Amino acid sequence: MPSDMLLHTSNHLRTQSFNAKPKATFLITPMPSKTSNAQLLKRLAKWYAKHGRKLPWRGCGDAYAIWVSEIMLQQTQVGTVLGYFERFMQRFPRLESLAKAPLEEVLSLWQGLGYYGRCRKLHAAAQQLLAAGQTQLPSSLEALSALPGFGPYTAGAVASIAFGLPVPAIDGNLLRLCARLHALPLPKERLLPQVHRWVSQLLQTPRPPRSAFPPGSLNQALMDLGATVCKPRNPLCTECPWHFACLALAQNKVTTLPLRKQSKPKPTLSWLLAYIEFKGQLLMAQHPPKGLFGGLWGLPGVPVERRLLSQEASQGSPLSQHLGGYPLALLCQTQRELTHRHLQLFVYAMKGKMPPKGMLQKLMHFEGTQAMELKTTGIQTGGTQPGCFPGYACLRWVPRETALQLPTSAALRKALEAALAATSVHKLKPKRA
Ligand code: SF4
Repeated sequence: MPSDMLLHTSNHLRTQSFNAKPKATFLITPMPSKTSNAQLLKRLAKWYAKHGRKLPWRGCGDAYAIWVSEIMLQQTQVGTVLGYFERFMQRFPRLESLAKAPLEEVLSLWQGLGYYGRCRKLHAAAQQLLAAGQTQLPSSLEALSALPGFGPYTAGAVASIAFGLPVPAIDGNLLRLCARLHALPLPKERLLPQVHRWVSQLLQTPRPPRSAFPPGSLNQALMDLGATVCKPRNPLCTECPWHFACLALAQNKVTTLPLRKQSKPKPTLSWLLAYIEFKGQLLMAQHPPKGLFGGLWGLPGVPVERRLLSQEASQGSPLSQHLGGYPLALLCQTQRELTHRHLQLFVYAMKGKMPPKGMLQKLMHFEGTQAMELKTTGIQTGGTQPGCFPGYACLRWVPRETALQLPTSAALRKALEAALAATSVHKLKPKRA
């Protein structure tokens, strides 16, 4: 460690000892004093002016663009977001254009970005505002927080970056940065109250000239420092503007902070999906608006309990029950790690020859005029009400070659691609389970 670092670190520690208000049951080292905050801010502003990320939504002053970018950045790397942001803004340049677009079109542009709930909420918030006669985002923290999809982080980010309010915007990167800077011996999940308090102090700290480092820039500088320097692994401490004050660095705890919570094994969720193709048309299902895969399309199916899986895998039941008892055989299977669970998708096809004309109609229990799509003269495409798959919002026959164009998730797409690949080689001759 360079000698100046040692000197600054010891000064910092000394300052802390005068300002400490120890709590009997709490091990946390106190936050820096106001003097230290001013010093930290000065270094941070200088670093940000030189190393802050140049991003299309920064400095544009467009609250709508800032909002879209913040929603896209949730759980997603900046590099992934850039292309999506550009396409999204080209198609929906204003809140009004987003609100007036059908959800399916919005989901199509979101396809591949994941976490589709945030896309649905973005759309719902735009529609809510437009229905109230507003074509702009509100500028108060309270009004922003009341909109769908605005948690504390997003409300703080939009309020500070778009409207200059001195409110914190604390993401996971900032929690990690603070845990190290202050050597807080806690897992990330328990750091928020203290980090919020400290960032609020930082935002109130005099910093002449304030106009050169307004609250939005300060929040973005903190995010950038956490994301690009104080990285989860191999942080770049020698390039960090705060190395002189970092307690984790001084105490050789950088690699152990923040503490890691013992992670529980993820539960497994299994679905049995049906590949039903007839005359080049594939039956696709749209998931209901809320929940896993909300509003997205995939092969129709049913969730199955893990304890029944071996039996289901060999017999295709209860999927078969949903199809009038028609015998099924396993076509392919895929899996994917989601944030909170492990997902297994088993795709089944009907055994042997495809059923004759009219048979599928009987199996699907189509109802109503719009639903009468399978006729003895052939198949017409269009939407239907679900018959034998009542959990879905909609069933639709689509040309096999266009099925992948419907908005879908990465996991559902993977299963559909595997099924299409399997049936293009051995057309509808499924493997035995
Ligand atoms: S010195 Fe290292 S550990 Fe400390 S805040 Fe900077 S990058 Fe993070």
